[in-house]
Amino acid sequence: MPTLTDKKSRRSGRPAAELIFGDLWTFDPAPETADPKLKPRYDLFIGGKFVAPSSGKYFDSINPANEAKLASIAHANAADVDAAYAAAAKAFATWGKLPGKERAKYIYRLARLLQDRAREFAVAETMDGGKPIKESRDFDVPMAAAHFFYHAGWADKLDYVAPGRKVAPLGVVGQVIPWNFPLLMMAWKLAPALAMGNCVVIKPAETTSITALKFGEIIADAGLPPGVVNIVSGFGDTGAAVMNHPTAVKVAFTGSTEVGKIIMRSLAGTDKKMTMELGGKAANIVFDDAPLDQAVEGIVNGIFFNQGHVCCAGSRLLVHEPVADAVLAKLKTRIRTLRVGDPLDKNTDIGAINSQEQLSKITELVASGVKEGADLFQPACKLPGKGYYFKPSVFSNVTMSHRIAREEIFGPVLSVLTFRTLDEAVEKANNTAYGLSAGVWTDKGSRILKLSTDLKAGVVWANTYNKFDPTSPFGGYKESGFGREGGRQGLLDYAKLI
Ligand code: ADP
Repeated sequence: MPTLTDKKSRRSGRPAAELIFGDLWTFDPAPETADPKLKPRYDLFIGGKFVAPSSGKYFDSINPANEAKLASIAHANAADVDAAYAAAAKAFATWGKLPGKERAKYIYRLARLLQDRAREFAVAETMDGGKPIKESRDFDVPMAAAHFFYHAGWADKLDYVAPGRKVAPLGVVGQVIPWNFPLLMMAWKLAPALAMGNCVVIKPAETTSITALKFGEIIADAGLPPGVVNIVSGFGDTGAAVMNHPTAVKVAFTGSTEVGKIIMRSLAGTDKKMTMELGGKAANIVFDDAPLDQAVEGIVNGIFFNQGHVCCAGSRLLVHEPVADAVLAKLKTRIRTLRVGDPLDKNTDIGAINSQEQLSKITELVASGVKEGADLFQPACKLPGKGYYFKPSVFSNVTMSHRIAREEIFGPVLSVLTFRTLDEAVEKANNTAYGLSAGVWTDKGSRILKLSTDLKAGVVWANTYNKFDPTSPFGGYKESGFGREGGRQGLLDYAKLI
């Protein structure tokens, strides 16, 4: 970005010249053109086949980038969910007893078939959810395949997953997933459950069901025995039927803390096992000895990745006072270069907000920040006329009592707070109902080690942010939920120890 180095500018006494990309330069469009192979209508995937919902009801899936209808999606009711559980129970009788190395073959096949159709799935994911194609292409789809590969590798090594103990599958598990990483969350849920020998009934989110139902095609192509995975699309009523089904021995939910609490209340008193991956309000902490340019990249990735629709987003920036002004200035410069717009354009950094409902929620919370006295910065970028978009936003002069510092916004909105001492940073970072993730930027290893213990967050990234790996367990403390996904720990959440 800067054309003159800081050194040169110091010599000349003039401020460093900068190239501001933003909207000053027009970019030729670079649309991704792979065919997403969408069908006009998606049915439920039950017992290895696509079947119409018993109510005959379908709802629309909208492309948030232009508000056009993409497909009709089946709305499953309680009878459909029953049928899905019955198919899963029947399949479990054989799948649960299959040797691990046989299950592994199927799971490897899922991974490879997804790789074969990677570009098609990336385009479908971007059209359905609004995320930039460079993210669905380079993150969501490859990471989903990586989860299947990793867990396929475990399937024949389960004798070593809990040293000294034997493990067995639980039975039929119910899973409900959110709209921010539709395919990836499906992989996070299916891969460990299948590797361990469980059968599954899974519900994708209502705004993003397409890649889950397309994955049904892959499941069928892989020859997975009918009923091992059943996919029921629908709204909260379908989700509640999946979570509350009497034959589900375990339920796994990823979504809002609010809905997580409803599910936990409804399951209190049952003996179902549960894992919950809920909201977050992560602190990304920058100390004065941090490499500031790298930190700024990490801050941008932490909050603007996937339009900020990330439960572990670094939505609270805590900056050490001596470098607060410098970090904020660098951040504003960097944000001016972000390109907001058509998610299918390969140049796009920030795509469309997932739904009108989410856009309204973000708009309301940002208005509350202005009203409560924080300073709002937004770059002068032009937003497309149609579709759901929101400018990348940074609030400074934020205090801990502001709603924007306490509530999960789930959008491209960063709240900046400052601190003077390490203890103050820890106190502020932990002063939240959530505890999913945190980031630390510093040159000192000892400080990183101390903070990784002191910060009450399931994941603490050091000098990086939003790094994911199937081998690494992910999950929360406090109102961010419990249970882990990924790694040995994630597998054990789908196992009976005997
Ligand atoms: P977000 O705020 O991320 O949209 P939600 O918690 O509203 O998350 O939704 C996550 C998933 O939970 C979606 O698949 C949604 O359909 C489902 N869901 C919503 N309400 C319920 C409910 N009462 N019981 C079970 N699942 C639900």
